[in-house]
Amino acid sequence: MTTGHLLYRERMYDFEERLTEHVSLERASRLQTVRRILAANEQFIEINEPFMVRAWPSLVLYTTAARVSRSVLRKRFQLTTYAIEKNSPILPIRDLFPIPPSWVKFFVRSICAYLIKPVDRIAFGTPGAASNYRLLVPKLLSHMDVTEALELPTPCTCHGPAKKANLLFVGEFSDRKGIRQAMRLWDEVWDRADITFTIIGQGPLLDFVVAWSKSHSNVQVVVDPPRDEIHTHLRRASTLVLLSQSTPRWREQIGLPIMEGLAHGCEIIATDQTGYAEWLSENGHTVVPQDVDYKRLAEVMLDKIRTPRPAAQIVGTLPLTSSRHDFDRWMNSARTHNDPEATAAGR
Ligand SMILES: [Zn+2]
Repeated sequence: MTTGHLLYRERMYDFEERLTEHVSLERASRLQTVRRILAANEQFIEINEPFMVRAWPSLVLYTTAARVSRSVLRKRFQLTTYAIEKNSPILPIRDLFPIPPSWVKFFVRSICAYLIKPVDRIAFGTPGAASNYRLLVPKLLSHMDVTEALELPTPCTCHGPAKKANLLFVGEFSDRKGIRQAMRLWDEVWDRADITFTIIGQGPLLDFVVAWSKSHSNVQVVVDPPRDEIHTHLRRASTLVLLSQSTPRWREQIGLPIMEGLAHGCEIIATDQTGYAEWLSENGHTVVPQDVDYKRLAEVMLDKIRTPRPAAQIVGTLPLTSSRHDFDRWMNSARTHNDPEATAAGR
């Protein structure tokens, strides 16, 4: 993407040092980041999306710094953000604070307005995220440059083994990522010799997953392997399962494993909580509600594992250029009054 300097505060469990070798990045506290924003002479500054509730303490500080930089230090820059949050920020706040609903709504609207007002450009990576924002802050969006498209992956160029009758789960071993649901699905079919289940990842339910795998045949658990090994598994798997489970505080935005599965020509089995739900249904994949009938889904799954569509056919539904790169180029391009791209993209 556009060359820049990345400031981050915390590392996720899947942070991979090796991939950051050619990236200019720096671990910084909130106050250090505020200082960097005030001192910056950049043309573009990108922040986390305003509906990311757990980033609100940071975002309040960063957008305040951006306001001060503009009004007091007289600096000129474009403040941009990339948004894929489908969960209304009202839900986690209502879950956290037992206060009357009308107060929650007022509080959430006020915070969101404060965070969004200084933003010049917002790019929506899924239609679900765009409608989520439009529902809560429609007027604010009409005052800024907005673009939206579905952020699909491009086909992966790696080489690896041919497809086998293999079901794959990749991701965090946690309730929200539906690992229990994936295991329950396998409980329905596990006594068949011609199919295998590979579970890759790590997380709070690791011991539970490992214990369960020992009592089932044809199950392999791989804990936190390197990226190239994950790609080999994605190449071999005929079907990828990610049955994400929403809570008031969290809803699947897209699901990185789904993107990676598609990039390797896997059939996808997902819940309707992903931002891809509509696209997956339209493109021959399996999308089910969270409280699915496991017996019926197991039949569909067996069929997908044993007789998947050719990988090339699934990969053929993907774009050849990355929409995330297109978004990034747009977010980091100069804003002029007669900018045809901005006009075309702005709604
Ligand atoms: Zn690959």
